[in-house]
Amino acid sequence: MTTMSCEDHVSRNRQGSLCRQRRSTHALPDRRKFLQASATSLGLSSVSGAITSLWAGQEGRGISEARFELPRGRVPASFIIDDSTCLVNMGHFCMPQFATAWPNRPNYKKPWKQWPREIPDAFVREFGEWCAEHGVKGKYSIVPYPACVGWLDRVLPGWSRRELLASLKLVRELMVPNWDIHPEMITHTRVIDLKTGRPMEEIHSGTMENSYPQEKKSVDELASYLAYALRILKNCDLPCEGITTPGGFGNRVKQELSLAVGEAVRDVYGTELPHYFKYVAGPKESTVPRLENTKDNGRDLSRAVMNVWAGTGDWFGNWDGDREPQPDRYCNRDATAGQMVDRIQKREPAMMLCHWPGLYSHGTRKGFRAFQRVILSLEGRFADELLWMKVSEVGRYYAAKELATIRYAARTVHVDTPYGTPDCTLAITGPPPFDPVVVKGSKKQRLRRVGRRADLVEGSHFVDGETCWVCFRLEQGQTAVVV
Ligand SMILES: [Zn+2]
Repeated sequence: MTTMSCEDHVSRNRQGSLCRQRRSTHALPDRRKFLQASATSLGLSSVSGAITSLWAGQEGRGISEARFELPRGRVPASFIIDDSTCLVNMGHFCMPQFATAWPNRPNYKKPWKQWPREIPDAFVREFGEWCAEHGVKGKYSIVPYPACVGWLDRVLPGWSRRELLASLKLVRELMVPNWDIHPEMITHTRVIDLKTGRPMEEIHSGTMENSYPQEKKSVDELASYLAYALRILKNCDLPCEGITTPGGFGNRVKQELSLAVGEAVRDVYGTELPHYFKYVAGPKESTVPRLENTKDNGRDLSRAVMNVWAGTGDWFGNWDGDREPQPDRYCNRDATAGQMVDRIQKREPAMMLCHWPGLYSHGTRKGFRAFQRVILSLEGRFADELLWMKVSEVGRYYAAKELATIRYAARTVHVDTPYGTPDCTLAITGPPPFDPVVVKGSKKQRLRRVGRRADLVEGSHFVDGETCWVCFRLEQGQTAVVV
């Protein structure tokens, strides 16, 4: 927990507005800001720490602290699935193409011909329904021209037209409600020449999406490539607010890539806050999403993009579906150890990663069973602590948390934010009793009381001693919460 520093306070007084103070903290994604609107009138301007102690003697008068908490007071969790698409088993189809481009790598010399060419829709249905039952949400890639097998908006050789359309319909109906859909570039194998729509003639690492581009590319060039992938999914009537990079795509142009994501996703889908998945945090790195490309100290968000990180490796069946799952690395049976447990205990987004062929495991579904065990273990210990969200929802929540300005005076908290978010949760400390009402323009919403923090949902509050937790749908602009 951070308290307001002396410098913040002075800066607010000097600027005569809160904007400056808020905007200057963008570099610190999860910094919590506590401002006391009435501190000035009490003559506080220079002594750090004095505010808290002075307020300790003024408790009868109003709020002494208000902070942006985690959504519904829970740790956000998300399941990031790479290398999924319709019907095509990317393990089977990518392997020979990777082997041609990287002839010396032994891990590309596996018996792919013996592996199933299809991951059937029956498996998508089983997986999607099980996840819906257990509330699991996240990101599900749809590679639009998977391993150059066929165009999902045109024809998928090897499957009938009816099968392709049914597969897309299944994704729209079963997956879209709980999962962000991302293109994982165009093919996940060969780089496509956008002028001809054909794979580049030469085959080497430089013409594979996994390691593309090998030289500097402009933001516009990259954006054109991303937009090409996005448009295919748009033709399939699939919504997208972000993209996933295949393997090392964009490693040499990280800054341009981030800008290109914003440009392409806004261009094709008109998304307010595009996001992307590329990076995996090491055990000591944070999984808090990074807000990028804000300009003018955050006043200009027209290019803003959320960079959403994973917080685990893939420890199910790997990208080719050929590895023995190691579920304990995510979470052991009694949920006392594992990377997901560590993230939850740090109260950082628990972003779990895997590859779709690794859940199917060449048809044995070993990876899927290991995944189910992980989820059941997490439920066993953390049912009241976790909130499964789409990755876009995690990104949006942290964008609001980072950019919202919170001020308070007497018994009113004022929130001003450029992004709204569902499940906005504030912890407000002050003298009880509490009867919180959210005021937005002429609308007023009284928040009903729940008996446990774990029961917090939008439209409710929970009282814990002198702290009142309020949960409501935060809309863009100014909102007042009167407690
Ligand atoms: Zn991938």
